[in-house]
Amino acid sequence: MSATQLVWLRNDLRLDDNPALNLAQQQGDIAVVFVASPGQWQQHDDSPAKLGLKAASLKDISAQLAQKGIDLHLVEADFFSDVPGKLETLCRQQGYTALWFNQETPLDERRRDQAVCELLQQEGLETHALAPDLLVSAPVLTQQDEAFKVFTPYYRRWLQILQDLQQPPYPAPEKQGKKLTFEFDIPDWAGDYRDDLWPAEEEAVLDKLSRFCEKRLKAYPDDRDFPAQPATSTLSPYLSIGRLGPRRLLHSIQYHCLQQDLHWQDNDWLRELAWRDFYRQLMLHFPRLSMDKPFKPETEQVVWRDDEAGFQAWCEGRTGFPIVDAAMRQLKQTGWMHNRLRMITASFLTKLLLIDWRRGEQFFMQHLVDGEFGANNGGWQWSASTGCDAAPYFRVFNPTRQSERFDPDGEFIRRFVPELSSLKGKKIHDPDDETRQDLDYPLPVVDYKMARKRAIDTFADLKKD
Ligand SMILES: Cc1cc2nc3c(=O)[nH]c(=O)nc-3n(C[C@H](O)[C@H](O)[C@H](O)COP(=O)(O)OP(=O)(O)OC[C@H]3O[C@@H](n4cnc5c(N)ncnc54)[C@H](O)[C@@H]3O)c2cc1C
Repeated sequence: MSATQLVWLRNDLRLDDNPALNLAQQQGDIAVVFVASPGQWQQHDDSPAKLGLKAASLKDISAQLAQKGIDLHLVEADFFSDVPGKLETLCRQQGYTALWFNQETPLDERRRDQAVCELLQQEGLETHALAPDLLVSAPVLTQQDEAFKVFTPYYRRWLQILQDLQQPPYPAPEKQGKKLTFEFDIPDWAGDYRDDLWPAEEEAVLDKLSRFCEKRLKAYPDDRDFPAQPATSTLSPYLSIGRLGPRRLLHSIQYHCLQQDLHWQDNDWLRELAWRDFYRQLMLHFPRLSMDKPFKPETEQVVWRDDEAGFQAWCEGRTGFPIVDAAMRQLKQTGWMHNRLRMITASFLTKLLLIDWRRGEQFFMQHLVDGEFGANNGGWQWSASTGCDAAPYFRVFNPTRQSERFDPDGEFIRRFVPELSSLKGKKIHDPDDETRQDLDYPLPVVDYKMARKRAIDTFADLKKD
């Protein structure tokens, strides 16, 4: 029997800066396993695009591991409840003595891991559950040892901890044997995705990170809200499946800030990454978030509207609000949507149409290549004013004003709503009825003023215990 350590890759699909791979190899030879759970993923609404990117990433990983002489097992366990048995069988058959993994924060994943650890320990195997994939994985707590419910104080504390953590990225595992041959067949569970937009190779992803930090970090605070500009990193698909490690991110920010005479501690991009940590760690402290519940219990009283026609118009990008429609079509065509537009479309659905945020949350997960439970749930609950440190209920985005402000020349709208591309000037933000008819573009599905008042009245009436 060998004493090989088994490393279980999950939402940390990378060799670079992966603590589980690195620490396990310090104990001896390693082998790697990936467990596909298509039934569970479907229940979790993972999009075909996200699964396509996952499969392509695994293909890249399989080639990298084969080069290093490290075995990769691809196991299928349809639901999380099937995982413990499958891993136990693999360990027994192959003689693995220990299992290593980086933890995840949503509830179902934590329950799965607990069941795996219990079964393997019963069988006399060691299990090593390492910290979750966060920039600050240590608990970030108030002076009363409680979870922060407001982002800004969380962020201050988070930054203090981060400043004391000056650790280099974990190196990729070393070569440990002869080169292996490993044929990777694209699995049935992988869906189609835009590989022209989202290359999966680790080298390409690391290169994208460096190029963003080199070229766009400085202008990010000024340009990040304008969807027509390539101002944000578009790294979210990779961050969602763990293609980049937290120490690698920090190292890249620090290095490039130094090169550009910027203070890395005040960096706005780093602050956005703190939101990612914030939403992920909320999952640990508030399990109800993983149970379809709002963070603010009183918002359970909201009677959401049953408006199937409105919902379909939103899904299809035919609401008659050009910026909303351009955004929804960007999502369908690319699997990704700009952050400002996620806020506009989510506010539109939950406030102006007064449709349950959970329907929007689900639709986004089913289409986003970067769908990530914590960030998506957090973003939807923020927009619907049901969440932790959410937008106040009386904040209802005016889509036309947002469009004039953040897409002033209509460049983004023209890109995704071609039927409006001939319109000049401000008209593109809200064409008159005659123009709409001529261009076969729908009338607005809702009257902004009436709908805004309806939303505010609905929330103002909620009773707190
Ligand atoms: C309704 C709604 C749904 C969302 N759903 C998701 C989702 O499923 N997956 C997802 O990764 N992000 C989600 N976000 C957050 C944000 O919109 C995306 O992370 C961002 O647009 C990704 O583009 P980028 O990589 O260019 O971001 P950048 O501006 O380059 O930011 C860098 C990284 O920081 C993180 N980040 C940035 N903003 C946020 C935020 N508000 N919350 C959490 N993390 C953030 C992401 O990992 C992002 O890749 C959602 C936001 C809203 C309002």
